[in-house]
Amino acid sequence: MDQDRIEGVTRYAVVGDPVAHSQSPRIHTLFAEQTGEELIYTKQRVTVDEFTQFVGSFFAENGGGLNVTLPHKETAFELADGHSRRSKLARAANTLWLGDDGSLQADNTDGAGLVHDLSINNRITLTNRKLLVLGAGGAARGALASLVECGLSSITVLNRTLARATALKADFAAVYPINVQDFTSARLSPHDIIINATSMSLSGYIPPLDPDLLSDHCCCYDMMYSPKPTAFMDWAKRHGAGKVFDGIGMLVEQAAESFFVWRGVRPETADVIATLQRVSA
Ligand code: NAP
Repeated sequence: MDQDRIEGVTRYAVVGDPVAHSQSPRIHTLFAEQTGEELIYTKQRVTVDEFTQFVGSFFAENGGGLNVTLPHKETAFELADGHSRRSKLARAANTLWLGDDGSLQADNTDGAGLVHDLSINNRITLTNRKLLVLGAGGAARGALASLVECGLSSITVLNRTLARATALKADFAAVYPINVQDFTSARLSPHDIIINATSMSLSGYIPPLDPDLLSDHCCCYDMMYSPKPTAFMDWAKRHGAGKVFDGIGMLVEQAAESFFVWRGVRPETADVIATLQRVSA
């Protein structure tokens, strides 16, 4: 049966290119079963050229909400009429829906997902800790939109392209004084938390990093998730990081936050994270 055609049930989808690997339909279907919410959630490959028209048609045909992934997060933000504070800071959106007046609304739940996974699921203290973020792309921006509110003692962003990090610094300047450097010139003291928000793990590489960046108790978090530890996780373990995590918890938590935005119901996430870890093991 074509799930898209069940009448009377609200449709949701994740759109991206590529999107075949996305776990979002599985996660939202588990949330719907758990909460008793009736909905259909699919994945749609949508190219850059098709994206704007796809969003218009989806909502014109009574679609309930979209999750947006690479490479459309910035365009999704620009298309929207209304923006949450965190999507404004990130200048990127991963969650779209129609407001009561029919206007297109945008949120970015990536940062809330990451902060929840770090601080609640993994019990990492953020207050008064020194944070280092690797990367200055959409994921780093989304993460920082929530991390700036966590009472960190400092935030430094390292990025290959310094101009991109400098633009990020400028966009966040009114809310937090982020330090930025590129990988080659960085001379840094040890940090308490290091988050890899580059896409390098996708190809099995890590940025050039000095192991002296790791403090004794350092927590290293790779936003990427895969059945095997990522190259960054391997590097962190090899050099004695205290705690090392991948991004599966962030993925489920950002989805839970989107589900809450759309349906007003917050799903439990622990069992869903465990299910995904089992399936991908
Ligand atoms: P993006 O906007 O394309 O940014 C990519 C980042 O990686 C940029 O900072 C880029 O640096 C850097 N980079 C790429 N190749 C590099 C290389 N060879 N050497 C050094 N730096 C390199 O991508 P994104 O949306 O931020 O996504 C980044 C990662 O986060 C992806 O792995 C994605 O799967 C993950 N993610 C996970 C979740 C989750 O829920 N767990 C959510 C969102 C994203 P330049 O600026 O120099 O190009």
